[in-house]
Amino acid sequence: MSQDATDWIRLEGVRVIDPFRGQDQEGDVLVGDGTFQEPTLSPRSRVRTMSGRGLWLVPRLTDMHVHFRAPGQEWKEDFQSGSMAAAHGGFSVVATMANTDPVVDSVSLIQWQKAEAQALGLVEVVPIGAVTKGLGGEELAELWTMEQGGAGGFSDDGRPVASSALMRAALSYSSTMRHPIIQHAEDLELSHLGVMHEGDVSGRLGLTGIPLEAESAMVWRDVQLAALTNGRLHIAHISSLGALEALAWAKSRGLKVTAEVAPHHLFFTDARVDSPAYDTATKVNPPLRPDNVRQALLAALKTGLIDAVASDHAPHHADEKDRPYAQAAFGISGLETSLAAMITIGLGEAEMTPLALFERMTRAPHRILGMDYGGVVAGARADFALIDPKARWRVEPAGWYSKGKNSPWMGTELTGRVISTMYGGHWTLQEGEVVRCVQL
Ligand SMILES: [Zn+2]
Repeated sequence: MSQDATDWIRLEGVRVIDPFRGQDQEGDVLVGDGTFQEPTLSPRSRVRTMSGRGLWLVPRLTDMHVHFRAPGQEWKEDFQSGSMAAAHGGFSVVATMANTDPVVDSVSLIQWQKAEAQALGLVEVVPIGAVTKGLGGEELAELWTMEQGGAGGFSDDGRPVASSALMRAALSYSSTMRHPIIQHAEDLELSHLGVMHEGDVSGRLGLTGIPLEAESAMVWRDVQLAALTNGRLHIAHISSLGALEALAWAKSRGLKVTAEVAPHHLFFTDARVDSPAYDTATKVNPPLRPDNVRQALLAALKTGLIDAVASDHAPHHADEKDRPYAQAAFGISGLETSLAAMITIGLGEAEMTPLALFERMTRAPHRILGMDYGGVVAGARADFALIDPKARWRVEPAGWYSKGKNSPWMGTELTGRVISTMYGGHWTLQEGEVVRCVQL
């Protein structure tokens, strides 16, 4: 399918699931000049008509937690491979974490990352700046300057902000900002040397465990600091019952506290580490948890206690995973499975409505990151994924665009496939292939 830049596109009979407007209905969608247009309009340009029968159109899928590894670790991922993976996954917006080398703790690196993404034109990148200089945990980075330069939030992700005094100071700043402090909640003394969840399975495998309390103790501290400062706190990759209780406590008091959950914590349990035993594709931080926790996380996503889904896309080179379990790198490459994993488990086991599920993957991350978007309305930038909700497919990371093939879903059958992705009125993915790849 070739496409002239001036062509308009009419999608007929597509099911538009638009959480930004709270609407789920079938209809026609017209795209021209980079934006959605009134479907009744008769444009002067040539119009290519496509059938959208049986497909879902979801605007602005947003993954608010990814690692693109640039600058400094381009053997794991770079902006080109990461952006292509995002387009393949159906995403229009991703927020990139700051734990690169050098660390993104200055406005110049924020702007460099935005420029890299803009030159590629495949996905909008919202850089997250570091909370502390060099992720050193000792001195606050220049949060306000980075916000002015386009940072969508602040996080030392990969590490927690361990110091209570620094966390208090960061949250105080955030009380007057539009963007949150995103905490990777982990008490490093409690998780010390742990490589998987602490429980029966870790005992059987002889691996050092990470207790649930390594997360929940820090989340309880942080919600209290959010109350003290009226700060804007977002909890990354929530994975414990105690953290859910702290989140509920914070929300019941009307605090500006939000949370995200990763698909792997909803899909797998720590039993997967033993099946097959010591599969390093399962090694992730926070670790895969027992089934009672997994079910509680899924229920909390359904009720909206957990606001958003984010993949924590953490690509690694094969050599960094092809090691004994204790020495392998933490992380799962998640951009190219996130949507299908959520359709499979969110609409399946959790029986969420598509509108509710996609709200957690579009409007909620926009709200948390302080971004505005109108949805599928005339004048809004045409960003959307076209999804075949019934397609079943087997996960084969070898064919991915991400350099990171580290996935516990390898060989798993999932339901729901991204057919095409449009970003800024241009196809970035057509029939499963990334089509707009600018070579730098
Ligand atoms: Zn993290």
